[in-house]
Amino acid sequence: MITIAIANQKGGVGKTTTAINIATAMAATGSRTLLIDLDPQGNASTGLGVHSGSRETSSYDILIGDAAIHEAAQDTDIPNLQIIPATQDLSGAEVELVSVEDRTSRLSQALNRTDPAYKQPEICFIDCPPSLGLLTLNALGAADTLLVPLQCEFFALEGLSQLLQTVERVQERFNPDLGIIGIVLTMFDRRNRLTDQVADDVRDCLGKLVFETVIPRNVRLSEAPSHGLPALIYDHECAGSRAYIALARELIGRLPEKRKAA
Ligand code: ADP
Ligand code: MG
Repeated sequence: MITIAIANQKGGVGKTTTAINIATAMAATGSRTLLIDLDPQGNASTGLGVHSGSRETSSYDILIGDAAIHEAAQDTDIPNLQIIPATQDLSGAEVELVSVEDRTSRLSQALNRTDPAYKQPEICFIDCPPSLGLLTLNALGAADTLLVPLQCEFFALEGLSQLLQTVERVQERFNPDLGIIGIVLTMFDRRNRLTDQVADDVRDCLGKLVFETVIPRNVRLSEAPSHGLPALIYDHECAGSRAYIALARELIGRLPEKRKAA
């Protein structure tokens, strides 16, 4: 299983939208896919149609309790796609974890608690909350690599340097192999000069780390969650869906060789 954390400490940059749609695209290729909702707001869970009443075992239970992924993962309506939903409890986890000794490795330990009878996912995405607190650190501790959605706006690069510093610290302290699989520009608006300028600056600064695929600002992407559906199902032909399919293709191309076949 390859685990990809989708993180950026800024809110509203497209983490959850990316998590839902890239996970759906990967599942559509036939890969067994798991999405872990690690944001107390539970937007990824809602966006995949998992209502609060049907979130029995959640990401809180694998972080704070001893639940294993196969106990918490539940099927979605999308073939090959399972989710570990988030519940409100998770907002307390940040505080509860402070006094736990192995507080940054709870999630990675949980991902290793597998049952031989459970068919492990081939790819796992973690949708992170908008902060660099203990929940995100758990995601970075558990992940093989990081996918960063970056909104094309003026302060985008500033926020990114803070995230990259955190990644360095995580590599030094508890996950030396953590990689960055790429940065994806989101909410791109061709008609807006500033957006264009920011995209150019980001590419100048970060080069190949930035995916060629750019996610456009697209109203269908923002409508889909209210129907409990990924945009890829809600309207698979809209510009946003097509962009996420292209992103998935690029992502597959960047996965380590041995994983590509999976
Ligand atoms: P985050 O998880 O980083 O907080 P979200 O994915 O929830 O960000 O996106 C924030 C808001 O912007 C949501 O209402 C979402 O539907 C909307 N949104 C995200 N990406 C796009 C896009 N490419 N075009 C239009 N709206 C978008
Ligand atoms: Mg989110």
